[in-house]
Amino acid sequence: MIKKIIFLGAPGVGKGTLAKTLSKKENLEHISTGDIFRYNIKNNTLLGKEVKSILAAGNFVSDDLTNKIVKNTIINKEGYILDGYPRTINQAKFLLDLVDIDDVILLDATDQVVIERLTLRSEKEGRTDDTPEIISKRLEVYNKQTKPLIDFFKSKGILRKISVVGSREDNFKKLMDILK
Ligand code: ADP
Repeated sequence: MIKKIIFLGAPGVGKGTLAKTLSKKENLEHISTGDIFRYNIKNNTLLGKEVKSILAAGNFVSDDLTNKIVKNTIINKEGYILDGYPRTINQAKFLLDLVDIDDVILLDATDQVVIERLTLRSEKEGRTDDTPEIISKRLEVYNKQTKPLIDFFKSKGILRKISVVGSREDNFKKLMDILK
């Protein structure tokens, strides 16, 4: 499969897990802006230094910086999964001016489920932004800044929705049915 796919959904909804599975199965590059930022923070690069406190607070990195990084990452690539980008209307417009996106997959779950998953992840992975306060901050920022993207992509006719209530296997099957 050669497609340009966006995964949209609240923090903790399982975008990363599903994107990784799809990426392996279909040999599509998995591009996670969150992973890019964390990698740079871990390696103490200039970018890492710039974004460290932003991630720690649960805020968004600026559109300009994020757009620049994504542009450099996707340039000349045919197929990929964007996980965690775009997250604002400005980012979405920037991206659609740059490339043709085939599918936008909205992973849908209730706030309750999302909070449970994030709490579980914090125990397993120890991500510093998975503390109760920062989790609720990230959900707040998601609701304000990213949710409007649902209607934005709906109006473009490329939004598909998956309820991620079931097992990973079920969710992956639903995803493959949509992408066929
Ligand atoms: P989650 O989906 O659990 O919030 P991510 O790994 O996608 O985790 O993102 C972690 C953090 O990285 C975000 O809280 C934000 O600070 C930053 N980030 C990731 N993607 C973007 C983006 N597209 N625009 C701005 N900030 C971003």
